[in-house]
Amino acid sequence: MSAYDLVFFDCDSTLSSIEGIDELATRAGVDVRALTNAAMDGRLPMEDVYRKRLEMIKPSPADFHWLGDLYISTAIADAKEVITKLSACKVAVHIVSGGLLPGILPFAAHLGIAPERVHAVPYNCDNPEPAFAHPLASNGGKPWVVERVAAALNVPRERRLLIGDGVSDLEASAVVGQFVGFGGVVEREAVKSAATQYIAGKLLEPLLNIVLE
Ligand SMILES: [Mg+2]
Repeated sequence: MSAYDLVFFDCDSTLSSIEGIDELATRAGVDVRALTNAAMDGRLPMEDVYRKRLEMIKPSPADFHWLGDLYISTAIADAKEVITKLSACKVAVHIVSGGLLPGILPFAAHLGIAPERVHAVPYNCDNPEPAFAHPLASNGGKPWVVERVAAALNVPRERRLLIGDGVSDLEASAVVGQFVGFGGVVEREAVKSAATQYIAGKLLEPLLNIVLE
């Protein structure tokens, strides 16, 4: 028996040890840290920062191919094993991420997660404009997506769980039965103190005890 039917994983710094957009910026030779910090401090709205960073980076299809490989090579050591076990117990595993879909899809395939279960920001290199208007590119995007996906699957709030490292993940606690903070890559005090369950180690395996009872 499982305590939850639907598990949402954040991607960056939860399933993999990297932050995809930061890696694309480094590869492009641009420094977006000031913008990222401005968003984290609340000095700039997330959607403005999202646009500004990508306008500086201008990622190409080749960059996304490279990023997909990087996500795979920097996966949390037991991510694939934990997802396989959850799926074997009939738990539906989804990814909900503010990262870029073309980079995350190959990683999801590697983890055994079908494309329709991956919720991230689509990005068309020839027409990036719609990406900047996507809900997951703004504050409050994760709870909106989680609620929408879970309602479509008829999974009540108490049967949903979300695991992530960031404040945008914590925002979704109101629409899930359990929020699990993951500190295996980055430990954030705001998340650690607010989470009712917190994984401080480097592996995702403790999640199995929470989900599968
Ligand atoms: Mg994250």
